[in-house]
Amino acid sequence: MKEKTHLGKQLLSILVPCYNEEAVLPAFYQRTSQVIADIPRYDFQFIFVNDGSKDHTLDVMRELREKDSRVSYVNLSRNFGKEIAMIAGIDYLTGDAAIIMDADLQDPPELIPEMIYWWEKGYQDVSAKRRSRAGESFFKKWSSHAFYTLLQKVSDVPMQRDVGDFRLLDRQCLNALRLMRESQRYTKGLFS
Ligand code: UDP
Ligand code: MG
Repeated sequence: MKEKTHLGKQLLSILVPCYNEEAVLPAFYQRTSQVIADIPRYDFQFIFVNDGSKDHTLDVMRELREKDSRVSYVNLSRNFGKEIAMIAGIDYLTGDAAIIMDADLQDPPELIPEMIYWWEKGYQDVSAKRRSRAGESFFKKWSSHAFYTLLQKVSDVPMQRDVGDFRLLDRQCLNALRLMRESQRYTKGLFS
């Protein structure tokens, strides 16, 4: 079980890698803010990582930061890809745990309370699994299936299927991830 040694509130970081998300980032911030407003027993911080966006994502981040000091952002010099953007954010966030989310609201923020519930039960890595892949093309479903099948053939590490990067990671997991500095990252495998 997780020991609560802190006297003050614990801090939860919401980490969001962003590439060309100017259109959706304000809505993401709005909806997620509403969800966390109902969880006053924790402090929250947003860590947005601008992964070399070519649109005005960085300006949106600056605006959010101006009106909400819980917002911080990391600005990468070019597009490095989501995997690198995630570890950059993990390097900077200071929470007791972090929730990693996509900006496009495909990861519903309404699940955050349930993820916290399991964390409080002592689970250090809480992942959200997709119930269906509805809306995805036949090719995407087929290629995803083939990918996991092949991956399990070549790897001894058991890998969860249909689990994205939407998860809550405890500080201990975050610190462990920070030690893995490979530049060709497969974060889902590293999580496992
Ligand atoms: N993303 C990123 N760098 C990239 C591509 C994507 O940081 O080079 C971010 C993107 O802004 C989003 C998340 O990673 O928050 C997932 O991207 P996307 O929705 O395009 O992926 P998919 O839904 O296909 O997994
Ligand atoms: Mg997406």
